[in-house]
Amino acid sequence: MSEHELEPKAISIIGLGAMGTALASILIDTGNTVTVWNRTSARAEALLARGARRAATVAEALATSDVVNLCLYAAVDATLAGHGAAITGKTIVNLTNGRPDEVRALSTALGSQGARYLDGGIMATPPMIGTPHAFILYSGSADAFEDAKEQLAAFGQSHYLGEDPVLAAVSDLALLSAMYGLFGGYLHATALAGSVGFTAKEFLPLVEPWLAAMMTALPDYAERIDSGDHARDVMSNLQMQSVAISNIVAASHSLGIDPAFMEPIERLAKKRLAAGFGSDEASGIIEAMRGK
Ligand code: NDP
Repeated sequence: MSEHELEPKAISIIGLGAMGTALASILIDTGNTVTVWNRTSARAEALLARGARRAATVAEALATSDVVNLCLYAAVDATLAGHGAAITGKTIVNLTNGRPDEVRALSTALGSQGARYLDGGIMATPPMIGTPHAFILYSGSADAFEDAKEQLAAFGQSHYLGEDPVLAAVSDLALLSAMYGLFGGYLHATALAGSVGFTAKEFLPLVEPWLAAMMTALPDYAERIDSGDHARDVMSNLQMQSVAISNIVAASHSLGIDPAFMEPIERLAKKRLAAGFGSDEASGIIEAMRGK
């Protein structure tokens, strides 16, 4: 038995896109009895060839296993709608990216139908599933997590955040927000460098170590944010940084690069400056984001 291999257990996967297929694959590899359903049934073929069982309907996927994972692009509630009796007594693990209001409504609706709800946020790409680099955030029913955690461990490292079902969804969106900020910044930087002739590969040896070095500022930022003290030991004050930010926006205009990615941070920096915090660290921009 491999490290992740489990006693055979029944588990259903609803949704066989790139991610649902990766989740189903690793559950097969770790010895589970896996039943799959997808709106477009042809997408199940490769998994069937590897030993998965096909559910002809959502109702069948629900009936076959006590633990039912959903990994869709949208329409989780619509997919489960009308299956009230089949849902009772099940553990529903929703691994679909979603908004907290949707998650709370789904959790309440499923709870009233006698199901246990776990919300999951997958912090990995499909090829990372089953590797130590994948981690998945969970929140919702603690009992459901306890019962399903051995199976869920096959996906990667599990982080159970608490009973409030929205904890995983909000943390997932927060981490994605950090990722899109990083990627958006990288793309803007590469477009800017490209406007004076650098290819992306030529620019990479400059931007990659720069971002890695800037990452080391995060613990100091976290301390300032939690204490609310952005004024102590200031090394790079906001007044100075806001000039650089405005220079980026102006240079983007003149070099033919759309500054849209940088404009919001310029607006927030100016708001903070106007509130009189120019001599603080730029970590204080979070207060402008919070509407202060
Ligand atoms: P895909 O686009 O590859 O697949 C989408 C899946 O959703 C398909 O199974 C599709 O069915 C189904 N679907 C979409 N709309 C409906 C609907 N109205 N009714 C029924 N089924 C529907 O997406 P992924 O598999 O990549 O993503 C699935 C989830 O995993 C998302 O929430 C995503 O945010 C999350 N995730 C994905 C990552 C990635 O890198 N791929 C990374 C981390 C999280 P059909 O085949 O019939 O179209």
